[in-house]
Amino acid sequence: MTFNDLGLSTELLRAVSDQGYSQPTPIQAKAIPAVLEGRDILAGAQTGTGKTAGFTLPLLQRLSAQKPARGPRHVRALVLTPTRELAAQVGESIATYGRHLPLRSTVIFGGVNIRPQIQTLRNGVDILVATPGRLLDHVGQKTLDLSKVETLVLDEADRMLDMGFIHDIRKVLALLPKQRQNLLFSATFSDEIKKLADGFMTAPQLIEVARRNTAAEAVNQVVHMVDKKRKRALLSRLVSTNNWRQVLVFTRTKHGANRLTRQLEQDGISAVAIHGNKSQGARTKALADFKAGKVRMLIATDIAARGLDIDQLPQVVNFELPNVPEDYVHRIGRTGRAGNAGEAVSLVSIDEHKLLRDIEKVLNRKVSQVTIEGFEPDPSIKAEPIQNGRQKPAGGNKNNSRRGGSSRPKNGRNASESPARTGRAAAARPKTSCVG
Ligand code: AMP
Repeated sequence: MTFNDLGLSTELLRAVSDQGYSQPTPIQAKAIPAVLEGRDILAGAQTGTGKTAGFTLPLLQRLSAQKPARGPRHVRALVLTPTRELAAQVGESIATYGRHLPLRSTVIFGGVNIRPQIQTLRNGVDILVATPGRLLDHVGQKTLDLSKVETLVLDEADRMLDMGFIHDIRKVLALLPKQRQNLLFSATFSDEIKKLADGFMTAPQLIEVARRNTAAEAVNQVVHMVDKKRKRALLSRLVSTNNWRQVLVFTRTKHGANRLTRQLEQDGISAVAIHGNKSQGARTKALADFKAGKVRMLIATDIAARGLDIDQLPQVVNFELPNVPEDYVHRIGRTGRAGNAGEAVSLVSIDEHKLLRDIEKVLNRKVSQVTIEGFEPDPSIKAEPIQNGRQKPAGGNKNNSRRGGSSRPKNGRNASESPARTGRAAAARPKTSCVG
């Protein structure tokens, strides 16, 4: 199958071929015709599957084919994303694929001055990409009218729920016209997601391209058992012996990300941290420098890394395993994207054996273990409880899987929100430490 078989307009086909894409990915092959038909879709697809073009292309086509209502330009399509970074990336995709079309789009998120956003909205946009908090701020200030939205996209809906956005999503839904097209994308389908979808979608077409929780098949995964205090030395060794040029490293905490960044810099390896305590400007610059190859290592927490799209990222390192097994799948999904080979290395200390077992349960297979000479674990070291990670809610279920419902800890941290909002969200949830 080629893009020509999907019913896309010549302007869109031109934009696709400008990108050098010849064949639609599986999600694109399924989603594009369904969205063009005007159907609601409920799509199970992780980042890296090409899902963004899967909804962006047909959305652009429908908007450009249908004449808008008379009067000033108004928002006809709304895309909600959990994080600023994902919002920015979706915005870039819309601009890229829509470059030959006369449609206007913009991206709004928190953490930056609201005034330029108000001006852009006042000038009129057809497609709005937004994080929920800032979107509602605009609604509250009456600088945004959502009453003419024809299509709603919820991107990474599972992440939005994890980040405590359910109430904001419901508020947004209540502001939209009843008659509209709904597209929901989610990497996983918990009961919460199903409940949300049941509440507002009309006979959605189900599209699933990768089995739930299937790690990207192109990713080679390996575990190196190592003592906690020797992880940093092992990481430096791996970087230099393998001559890794572009590595995304995950830590569990912001503090851990900062510390590791400092230590790597001391070892002469250029590194920059990206997490929720960094200003939006610092996050954007860190990502740009990393993408451009100016820094070798990007040290990220799970929240900050969500939705990052870095083309052909060859290497992901789990400096610490995530407490939530599904986050491992999201992390390693940063590599091996769109068919490129990737490698995910996890440095695992004795404290993390239980986390590794939980991850292997979700993956439904063992990850091969390789001990690096000189870094063999000291058998006299005993496992200690993991500090500073996300904790399980009191009475939470043992395997902490989202499959059973809402067992995943909800933490109030929120990469795209104002402190006030974050505080309010946190108050309603089990206490967690500072991550993100
Ligand atoms: P996404 O899952 O939307 O984040 O996309 C993952 C990556 O795949 C992005 O870097 C896209 O630019 C790329 N991509 C999207 N569609 C295609 C395609 N049909 N062929 C090759 N690469 C693609």
